[in-house]
Amino acid sequence: MPRLGEGEESFMVTTYRWFSSLSGRQKVVLSLTVIVCLAIIVPALLMDPASHRNGTARFTVDMPIRQIAPRLGVTGKALARELGLPLSAPKNKPLGELGVTQGRLSHATGHLLSHADRTGKYWVFLALALAGFVYLNMLGRPDGPGNEQRNIRYPRSPYLAVLTISVLVAGFYFGKSPNPMESIVKVFKSLVGLYPDPAVKVMAFLFFAALAVAGSKIVCGWACPFGALQELIYSIPLFRRAKRRKPPFAVTNAIRIVLFLLALLFLFGVVGGGKGFVLYHYINPFNLFNMDLEGTGVLMTVILALAGSFFMYRPFCQLVCPFGLVSWILEGVSITRVRIDRGLCTRCGACTRACPLPAAADRVQGRKMPADCFSCGRCLNVCPEDAIRYGPVFRK
Ligand code: SF4
Ligand code: SF4
Repeated sequence: MPRLGEGEESFMVTTYRWFSSLSGRQKVVLSLTVIVCLAIIVPALLMDPASHRNGTARFTVDMPIRQIAPRLGVTGKALARELGLPLSAPKNKPLGELGVTQGRLSHATGHLLSHADRTGKYWVFLALALAGFVYLNMLGRPDGPGNEQRNIRYPRSPYLAVLTISVLVAGFYFGKSPNPMESIVKVFKSLVGLYPDPAVKVMAFLFFAALAVAGSKIVCGWACPFGALQELIYSIPLFRRAKRRKPPFAVTNAIRIVLFLLALLFLFGVVGGGKGFVLYHYINPFNLFNMDLEGTGVLMTVILALAGSFFMYRPFCQLVCPFGLVSWILEGVSITRVRIDRGLCTRCGACTRACPLPAAADRVQGRKMPADCFSCGRCLNVCPEDAIRYGPVFRK
């Protein structure tokens, strides 16, 4: 039986011992969580089937931008940008007269429709984040056993199961939109007039932000399908020596910040040829879930992120994702998170070694701005002093 970095015991045995150690109360909570998650996910799948994706045939070059854009849920400027026209292109002229071919129109409308939010997917995100929240706060640590049984806590199997659902359902079934990364990008796009409804985009972002606040980056750690895909690849027990080398957070975060600022400068037209250039559009790995890997930038991003995940923890999240950056900032106000009891901690380094990032080390050292914690749970069963817990910040 292959081991997935669990220490002495096999994956299945640890899971079985963990489940057997749960108290009656915890088994009830586990059952209820599974039922609630299924009750959320199954109707979302049924009510928002994959066949819902719209075709593009009904749009022709005889139609003007003004007629097409509202049916795509975007502004005329956004459609003009997608068609390669200046944002100021006339909105009431037939597109054929502006030199747009039917092929270009079909491609542009297909792409814009692929960004249309699928409402059912929000429910799936909610269910996955709920599963992570309950597991980390109430179930990963059996009520009864003492510290000597810490090796059975927080087995990886529930986490890997949730990640798999995220990839299959929130990823390949529902397609790329909505997703946390786009939620922040769309807020800024609406500010330059590429969406007609900034308030709706802000609400979508607040949804993901609220999940990130409920548990430290829990939406990234447990629900985001591209994060999940990277996490699953990283969990394959290969290249362990390379994984021990963790890039300094100051470097990875600086790259993420510079990209974000650059993206804003392009979008607002401070640099580049004018307003409306969306940098993240060219490196959006969520296109994978629509099997839309046409652009070289997107293809390279997907390949580099997934291949890099064999050696490095969530490279896209650490280096590129704007929501990763924002949710890192939100960690400062997250309600539940990894907590270290400094009175018990002997700085033995067990959690530092278990953590795939500098996150645990920064927390042990009491850094004011620690590295991202994705609530992956790896550090929660290694402390010989029982100094690490996952829980609400207000509980002593
Ligand atoms: S940081 Fe990673 S997990 Fe979070 S939204 Fe971005 S891609 Fe997804
Ligand atoms: S191992 Fe690191 S990233 Fe994972 S929960 Fe612990 S501190 Fe957070």
